[in-house]
Amino acid sequence: MASYETRDYDVLVVGAGGAGLRAAIEASALGVKTGLVCKSLLGKAHTVMAEGGMAAAVASVDPEDTWRVHFRDTMKGGKMLNHWRMAQLHAMESPERVRELQEWGAIFDRTAVGGISQRAFGGHTYKRLCHVGDRTGLEMIRTLQDRGVHAGMDVHMECTITHLLKDGERIAGAFGYFRESGLFVLFRAKAVVLATGGVGKAFKVTSNSWEYTGDGHVLAYEAGADMVDMEFMQFHPTGMVWPPSVRGTLVTEGVRGDGGVLKNSKGERFMFSYIPEAFKNDVAASEEEASRWLAGDKQARRPPELLTRDVCARAIVSEVREGRGSPHGGVLLDIAYMDSEYVKRRLPSMHHQFMELAGMDITKEPMEVGPTAHYAMGGVRVDPETQAATVPGLFAAGEAAGGMHGANRLGGNSLSDLVVFGRRAGQGAAEYAKSLREKPRVNLAEAEACAKELLESFNRSEGENPFVVHEALQDMMEKNAGIVRNEKDLRAAIDALAGLRKRASGVKVSGTRQYNPGWNEAIDLKNLLTVSELLARAALERKESRGAHTREDYPDYDKAFAKVNVVIRRRDGAMQVAQEPLPEMPDELKKLLEGESA
Ligand SMILES: Cc1cc2nc3c(=O)[nH]c(=O)nc-3n(C[C@H](O)[C@H](O)[C@H](O)COP(=O)(O)OP(=O)(O)OC[C@H]3O[C@@H](n4cnc5c(N)ncnc54)[C@H](O)[C@@H]3O)c2cc1C
Repeated sequence: MASYETRDYDVLVVGAGGAGLRAAIEASALGVKTGLVCKSLLGKAHTVMAEGGMAAAVASVDPEDTWRVHFRDTMKGGKMLNHWRMAQLHAMESPERVRELQEWGAIFDRTAVGGISQRAFGGHTYKRLCHVGDRTGLEMIRTLQDRGVHAGMDVHMECTITHLLKDGERIAGAFGYFRESGLFVLFRAKAVVLATGGVGKAFKVTSNSWEYTGDGHVLAYEAGADMVDMEFMQFHPTGMVWPPSVRGTLVTEGVRGDGGVLKNSKGERFMFSYIPEAFKNDVAASEEEASRWLAGDKQARRPPELLTRDVCARAIVSEVREGRGSPHGGVLLDIAYMDSEYVKRRLPSMHHQFMELAGMDITKEPMEVGPTAHYAMGGVRVDPETQAATVPGLFAAGEAAGGMHGANRLGGNSLSDLVVFGRRAGQGAAEYAKSLREKPRVNLAEAEACAKELLESFNRSEGENPFVVHEALQDMMEKNAGIVRNEKDLRAAIDALAGLRKRASGVKVSGTRQYNPGWNEAIDLKNLLTVSELLARAALERKESRGAHTREDYPDYDKAFAKVNVVIRRRDGAMQVAQEPLPEMPDELKKLLEGESA
């Protein structure tokens, strides 16, 4: 019998990024016993890596901005597939959440008259991103952590949750292990909030770090929850392409917001050739108009480099495919033509990043950039008000949840999503926990089975190295389910995943359980494979191109697909894929979108 320690909570929050921290702060404040678990050290979540800023219609730079314009931009960017109520709540509540962060100690950059400085980002009509240089996530995490650790919650660091436990249909707790000691832990809990972030490590070129293995997505799916929009994986247009060791590392959209321009090897500013019909009226028609916008002319329209990420990423892929790429297979992002002190002040991390990693000075020469797997729009289907998943007692927030961003997320809308819906998830989970008269029962045989499963890779006399299987998965996903897809490749992906699953079930690890990266990788592999299959099956189902999902065999929008989400749930141990109608939007919101098409 494997041994494990047991902990008891009303609400267990899995993940200590912006969403998890905000959820835990709220649950604690509502008086329920709250535990917070994170796979890495506290403070080392993706949120800390966020650079450009947090979108909220605070209107301190552009007074014309309102939640209604933010709502419209978000829906338009998401190609109208967003859950309208999430997009509405997000637009309405994000200014309040920014002010709350300020009250809790966050120090945003200021305008000359003392307001919060806001910068331009793709798809946002107005300058809307509240920021701290290009280190906004760091300030957000610092503030939430300070607040959280004084709120009386327990924090369990370097603890990976591997299974959710249920009592009948409802959540009863979670099982996991500590990376440092390798020891197991059983958390009994009335409610669990999943705030585990994204899935980027399924791809070869990604801006994401080692933690993004889709754990929350798979925990929810395996517990029976509905998964929505899994086909929509955002490829950020500007990741580093050189040197190879850092390929995929993000180059913030703030570079383009602050004047950076995209050029091909011929020196052409090619984005002017890729402006979609739906955005024609919003975008500058010439370089001269784009320059006037940059100089602050309110009559001028935004430069085409600030089109949404899906549009920019596809344009870069076309330029490279047509032979106009940069020496290392990307394109050029140039901000060196601007005043070097301005660049260093606005983009200190980017200046440092390129100096340290590529040995080049972005104030003197252009960067080489190309698309990188960045953000999962798809995730756990949740109720917009409470963030409750379709399994009683289960909640999700942040990147692990789906619905908010539709087919494509606008830059900056994640950080605001985290605090708007993290707070709602904490509240939803606390209220649910309070409503239960007794604690759900954990089946100890189930916990025992989890422990046994986790140790299997130690018990084989031979087997493959889990890192080799992971690498094969990343190559395969990049090739078959990446930025441009078709039916043949997606079917090949699903077949290949079956083969990789077989290989993963035979991997062998050696050594002890303490800080054993091979063992940790063997455990993560299962989630990476399942999340990749969710993505490939959803991508196969959506026979159109929309937002971040590009099908070369169905290159256009399809009216029928404009009305449905692709939903996947586990039934009889298999993935059941369904098309389900979008929730009906009220007339007053429809009016805000009049004249806009997807
Ligand atoms: C380089 C970069 C720059 C970005 N810049 C911006 C930006 O400027 N603006 C913006 O809006 N968005 C930006 N984003 C996106 C945004 O940062 C993320 O979407 C967001 O931070 C996700 O927050 P989260 O709380 O959902 O997850 P995270 O912040 O990633 O936190 C996930 C947490 O879950 C834990 N975890 C994962 N699995 C488990 C498990 N099995 N058991 C226990 N714990 C687990 C992790 O340890 C971590 O604590 C950027 C992303 C990247 C990668």
